[in-house]
Amino acid sequence: MRGNPSTSRALNRRLILNLLRHRGALSRAEIATITGLSPAAVTMVVTELMGETLLIECGVQPGVQTGATGRRPVPIDINYAAHLAVGFKLRHDSIDCVLTDLATTPLTSFSMPVVDTQPETMVDAIDKAIPALLKAAGRKGEPIMGVGVSIPGEIDAIKGICLQSPRFGWTNLPFPEILRARIHVPVWIDDDIAAFTVAQRLFGAGRQHRDFIALAVGTGIGASLVIGGEIYHGSHGVAGKLGHVVTEKNGRLCECGRRGCLQAHAAEPAMIEQWAAKAGAPTGIRPSDLRDAFLAAVEAGDAVALGIVEEAGLRIGRHLADFVNLFDPEVIIAGGESMHYAEALLAPIRRGMSDYLFFTRPDILPDWIAGSWARGAAALATQHLFNFERTEPSSNK
Ligand SMILES: [Zn+2]
Repeated sequence: MRGNPSTSRALNRRLILNLLRHRGALSRAEIATITGLSPAAVTMVVTELMGETLLIECGVQPGVQTGATGRRPVPIDINYAAHLAVGFKLRHDSIDCVLTDLATTPLTSFSMPVVDTQPETMVDAIDKAIPALLKAAGRKGEPIMGVGVSIPGEIDAIKGICLQSPRFGWTNLPFPEILRARIHVPVWIDDDIAAFTVAQRLFGAGRQHRDFIALAVGTGIGASLVIGGEIYHGSHGVAGKLGHVVTEKNGRLCECGRRGCLQAHAAEPAMIEQWAAKAGAPTGIRPSDLRDAFLAAVEAGDAVALGIVEEAGLRIGRHLADFVNLFDPEVIIAGGESMHYAEALLAPIRRGMSDYLFFTRPDILPDWIAGSWARGAAALATQHLFNFERTEPSSNK
């Protein structure tokens, strides 16, 4: 992370913002020493960023003269609190909504029910949710820097197109364009796991790692690769489809229409379905109640439930090992709703992975709280400031 005198101003801005994101507050002189930029260049960029309220001088009382010769250097930091981003995680029956600051720290959040998965229904709900979020956080009428939306499916994040979402019945849908026409704020989209990974990369457990795998286990199973500090999307934006690696020839039917995919055998709905059949759970029970009953059985140490979670974990671990053998990550960061099974799931994933590892044995670090999906979506909006990956999608130009 070093600049040079010919580096353009835009790059210097990102250099300084990312340095402060990694290291916290630094003085102008320290920024110049670490980046190799001239003190004059640092002063110019810092002044510009302060003018945009993106940077702030720390511990300075308003009105007090600073920066004069002989005074203690004033630390500069990112003004996380001054900017707002909004994240939405679309589900088939609801939308998780969150308002965050620039560090994607949630300020307020709620879930909004939707009656169907029509794009118009989702746009209507988001349009209503934004003022409601601002009001709930006591920030009524304040501008937001952008909106991030995470969608389950295959997404071309750069072009801003949902290529397909079997869960929603969407194909080649320019969702950001449709949404932006309504709310008049820049919109970014990506799939759930990429969004989760962006948040992890910027401000989560992945902050200090340049090469890692983000694993998510919930309704589906997915993985995202961060290589050299950037998310690897693949040539069609569909890299990391760990959930659709075939684990069993002619196995259980997957939502993608094929048989034997890992997620059809090891994602949460598969575990619950197998348990309900084996344990003779009453039929007609609400899915959320069934899910709670399964979790309770796992937590109570029920042998049948634990056996099902263990088998799922071993399968996931086995295929995760292939990923590790191919990409040699520093760590694996695990998220998704299934993290509530905790060690009942993580221990067999580690064991299953170890059985098939060739050389390196990366740690699996769970980093998950309720609301992490929507927070990831908000990170889609904040990431362009730090630009470790890409700038605005074409639909925002
Ligand atoms: Zn599949």
